[in-house]
Amino acid sequence: MTAKVETTLRGPQAYGLARRVVDEMEAAGVWPTPLNFELWTHALGQPEGALAGEIQRMTAAGEPFTEAVTDALAAQHLPRGRLTDQIRDAGQVLDRELSSVSSVIAEAHRSQAAYGQTLEQAATSIEAAAGGDGLQTIVSDLTSATRQVQHETESLEKKLEVSTQEVVRLREHLELVRRDAMTDALTDLANRKAFDEHLAAACDKAESSAAPLTLAVFDIDHFKRFNDTWGHQTGDQVLRYVASVLGRTAASPRFAARFGGEEFAIVFPYESSAMVETALKGVLAEISSRSLRRRSTNDDLGAVTVSAGFAVRRRGETPAALLERADAALYASKRGGRNQVSCAERLAKAA
Ligand code: GH3
Ligand code: MG
Ligand code: MG
Repeated sequence: MTAKVETTLRGPQAYGLARRVVDEMEAAGVWPTPLNFELWTHALGQPEGALAGEIQRMTAAGEPFTEAVTDALAAQHLPRGRLTDQIRDAGQVLDRELSSVSSVIAEAHRSQAAYGQTLEQAATSIEAAAGGDGLQTIVSDLTSATRQVQHETESLEKKLEVSTQEVVRLREHLELVRRDAMTDALTDLANRKAFDEHLAAACDKAESSAAPLTLAVFDIDHFKRFNDTWGHQTGDQVLRYVASVLGRTAASPRFAARFGGEEFAIVFPYESSAMVETALKGVLAEISSRSLRRRSTNDDLGAVTVSAGFAVRRRGETPAALLERADAALYASKRGGRNQVSCAERLAKAA
């Protein structure tokens, strides 16, 4: 958020602005999620800004503020995205820890070198010393040099211990941030980026172990009609419902993702084509079995159906080629009347 909006939010107009934000979000038909709140606060706090202009334009054109749209608006217009903030902060602390570790190591080098010199001098002096007092001085010098090094080593160890703890904490924090960046905010499923990475790794693994790997893709049927009739907020509710069924089906090692607006995928490792097909038919039956209710008005929305297609990975096949065949099977399901599962291999045989 810009400094101007930040200042307004701490000034006499703060609550007035916040109330107007809520009203405007309601008028625009968007949920008051933290992200939307941030977007609308920014827009109202700076009505002459680019974000305000874009929101006005979209409202005038009747374009819906879908989750994907608000994500894009945030990425473009909220100058300091929360994620980048966290990554930058973590990066700074990590830099600090690393430079502290290297200075600790440099200090250790210096004190070891000084100790080495003391020993060398002692060796020379011992040769020269006739004995008696001379030798005693040398031994006491050596003893104090040893004590000095011991003391320094202890304090270095303590510093390293603190740095190590800090690095462990940072690693955990970065892991959280990474997980956030891989998750779809609307459905809590893995997002497209996570899907791409997972599918590539799964293909590599299947290639080296010669284990089966199957990819299924899903697309909600007549979703546009649904959005047009009930509004995109109710559409989002349907997306979450479909995602929850897919997520439950895809317990590890299966892997579910939302990889497009209303498109989902599940990666099935180690399962035969017949097992996957049975699972997919179960998913479609479960999704269509429930009559949905619109949360805001309790209107009966009827049942939602999805179409699915799946393909078993061929040896040497790239993720993109596998996805293309699964997609082709999905479109066969759409052509065949929707709410059904198609298998890429069976289509190829039939052709
Ligand atoms: P088909 O059965 O052939 O798949 O028809 P369809 O209407 O589902 O297909 P189409 O691709 O024409 O429509 C997809 C719609 O999904 C259009 C878009 O508005 C909607 N959509 C995409 N992302 C979101 C989202 O995040 N939220 C909501 N509510 N709708 C979305
Ligand atoms: Mg689609
Ligand atoms: Mg669709």
